[in-house]
Amino acid sequence: MGNNIEGKVVVVTGASSGLGEATSRHLASLGAKIMLGARREDKLAAIVNDIRGAGGEADYLVTDVTVKSEVLKLVQKATSSFGRLDVIVNNAGLMSIAPMSECNTDEWDRMIDINIKGVLYGVAAALPVFEKQESGHFINISSVAGIKVFSPGGTVYSGTKFAVRAISEGLRHEVGGKIRTTSIEPGAVESELKYGSSHEDSSAFVREFYENNEIPSDSVARAIAYAIEQPADVDINEIVIRPTVQEF
Ligand code: NDP
Repeated sequence: MGNNIEGKVVVVTGASSGLGEATSRHLASLGAKIMLGARREDKLAAIVNDIRGAGGEADYLVTDVTVKSEVLKLVQKATSSFGRLDVIVNNAGLMSIAPMSECNTDEWDRMIDINIKGVLYGVAAALPVFEKQESGHFINISSVAGIKVFSPGGTVYSGTKFAVRAISEGLRHEVGGKIRTTSIEPGAVESELKYGSSHEDSSAFVREFYENNEIPSDSVARAIAYAIEQPADVDINEIVIRPTVQEF
C-alpha cells in the first residue's frame, strides 16, 4: 500500500464523463478498485473496459442518484465485489443556468434532486458501512459556486453547491473521529457540465466562459487523489481549485 490509494475501494457517482470519469481512471491507475455509477451504460462499460485493459480493477452499475435504492445498490455492489468500501465520491451533478425570472421549476427540481439529494443518498448508503468498518472517506463535489453566488443565472445551482458544502462540514463534525470528509470546490473544468442549460442566452454565456477558462478534468482527479492518499489521521476538509486565469 505504498501510495495509500492502492487497494482502496472507491465508489464514484457520475462516473460516465468529466470529473467522475477522470477520477475513476486516475485512481484506478494508482491501484484503487473503482465501482462506477451513472445512467449511461455504454459510457460506463467503455471506461471499465479501458481500466481493465490497462491492468486496473473496476466495475459499474447503472445508477440514477435521484433513486435512493439505486445508490444503495451501487454501494452494495462495491462491498460485495471488492469486500469493503474506503471512499465514496459523490460527484454526479447538473448545472442548468437561467435567470430566476424564467421560473424554470423543472430544472430547479432536477438540480436539487441530483446535486443535493443524490449526495445525501450517497451519504446514507455509505455511512453505515463506514461506521461498521470504523473507517471511510466521503468526497463531495461542491464548486466555487458553493463559495460565491453565481448570479445572475446560477442562483439555484449555487444554492445546491452551498448545500453540498454545508452538508459536508456538518457531516465531518458529526461523524468525524474515524471517518474523513472532503469537499472539493472546483472552478471551470472541461466536462459536459457546460451543456446542461436549456436557456439559450445563458447557455451561450456559459460555453464562452468555459472556453476562456477551463482546465482539464484530471486536475480535479489529482486533487481527489491527494485527499485520499493522506494518512488516516489527516482529513483534507476542503480543496478549492481554479484555473489560474479564472477570476470568479
Ligand atoms: P459532466 O456533465 O461531464 O458529468 C456529470 C456526471 O453526472 C455524468 O457522469 C452524468 O452521467 C452524471 N449524472 C447526471 N445526472 C445523474 C443522475 N441522475 N444519476 C447519476 N448520475 C448522473 O460534468 P462534470 O464532470 O463537470 O460534473 C461533475 C461534478 O462536478 C458535478 O457535481 C458538478 O456540479 C461539479 N463541478 C463541475 C465543475 C466544472 O466546471 N466542470 C466545476 C465545479 C463543480 P449520466 O448522464 O450518464 O448519468
